[in-house]
Amino acid sequence: MSGPEALAAHRDRAQQDYVELVGRGLSLDLTRGKPAADQLDLSAPLLALPGATYRSAESVDTRNYGGLHGLRELREIFSGPLQVPVEQLVAAGNSSLELMHDSLVHAMLSVLPGADSRWVDQERIAFLCPVPGYDRHFGVCERLGIEMIPVPMTDQGPDMDAVERLVAGDASVKGIWCVPKYSNPDGISYSDEVVDRLAAMPTAAPDFRIFWDNAYAVHHLTDERVEIADVLAACAGHGHPDRAFVFGSTSKITFAGSGVGFFGASPDNVAWLLGNLAKRTIGPDKVNQLRHALFLKDEAGVHAHMDLHRAKLRPKFDAVLRILEAELGSTGLATWTDPKGGYFITLKVLDGCAREVVRRAADAGIVLTPAGATHPHGQDPDDAVIRIAPSFPTPEELEQAIAGVTACVRLVGYEKLLA
Ligand code: PLP
Repeated sequence: MSGPEALAAHRDRAQQDYVELVGRGLSLDLTRGKPAADQLDLSAPLLALPGATYRSAESVDTRNYGGLHGLRELREIFSGPLQVPVEQLVAAGNSSLELMHDSLVHAMLSVLPGADSRWVDQERIAFLCPVPGYDRHFGVCERLGIEMIPVPMTDQGPDMDAVERLVAGDASVKGIWCVPKYSNPDGISYSDEVVDRLAAMPTAAPDFRIFWDNAYAVHHLTDERVEIADVLAACAGHGHPDRAFVFGSTSKITFAGSGVGFFGASPDNVAWLLGNLAKRTIGPDKVNQLRHALFLKDEAGVHAHMDLHRAKLRPKFDAVLRILEAELGSTGLATWTDPKGGYFITLKVLDGCAREVVRRAADAGIVLTPAGATHPHGQDPDDAVIRIAPSFPTPEELEQAIAGVTACVRLVGYEKLLA
């Protein structure tokens, strides 16, 4: 049923639904991928740890200065999930984004292993940005004057033909942002072939870096614990041992604001980072690292804890998928992802409609991530991608919000088809 009369009937119904929606005076927020309070409660014992204990397994007094590399027992726990040998893994402050930001600043100001000059001394620095991607990666680039070159995502990872072409011909292309598992926002995990091509590809820049933001390494939403190829091993195997910087954190494992961030890379890169870090801090918060190690215990402990998160998150993702299917399934107005992990569902509406959907939703009291946030400089050329973050609202709020969003998608979509 797609003739003009049928479309007009659909539009009229959508208009009625929208008026009703606005009349409900909602105030709901679907913007950020934050854990909900009941997920934070899962880590409540952390608040009482480390108790009277303050010595690490190696008898370090965690209350004192020092220990830049981070507590070994915590690095041992995350070595497997992040695919980084313990010696090459640094446990740092409370945020991996901070480590990504600082790594870029250090690359600007201190010559990287394999480089012959600092990035700040070069005329142009560019990064490849697979899109849709994570807005805060783009924000760091914007702040530091790093040019962003969008590269399309496929269902296997970034379009490697485009990536290989761009890095081969231009020495000012210094890096690529990657969220290799359950990507933000598409939920895509990189295939082994993509990881291998990233590791193997010739780059014009001798100091090219893959910013491997494995933020969702253990954040599964199904029985399948998706595995990705080991990027550090692949890079070393192809003769590019310094190519990858691996990042991760416990932000969405324990407390989002009081977790531990990790950096992993080749021994030369780790020495480079620690040398720069030493100018910035006399050591990380080892008391926090100790309580994390005591709480999580080992890698199996991390997985068991993530199963508890999954039990809270899965019903929320299911509710979103159910409502999208019921309200939009047969309309042809939208498609969406059904991720196996991570924190997001990507809703793709008709080209040219995303901003208007977000605006209408805001007018009805439902705040969505700004359309375009998934692209460099907030510019989605198709104006089609909307990122949905189901984790933070209560189940009731979430259902109301998604139902409201679908009304907006129908209204804007049918208006567009009739225009
Ligand atoms: N990287 C990605 C891909 C994310 O989605 C997020 C948070 O949403 C972060 C990093 C933030 O990590 P952290 O809390 O460790 O700074």
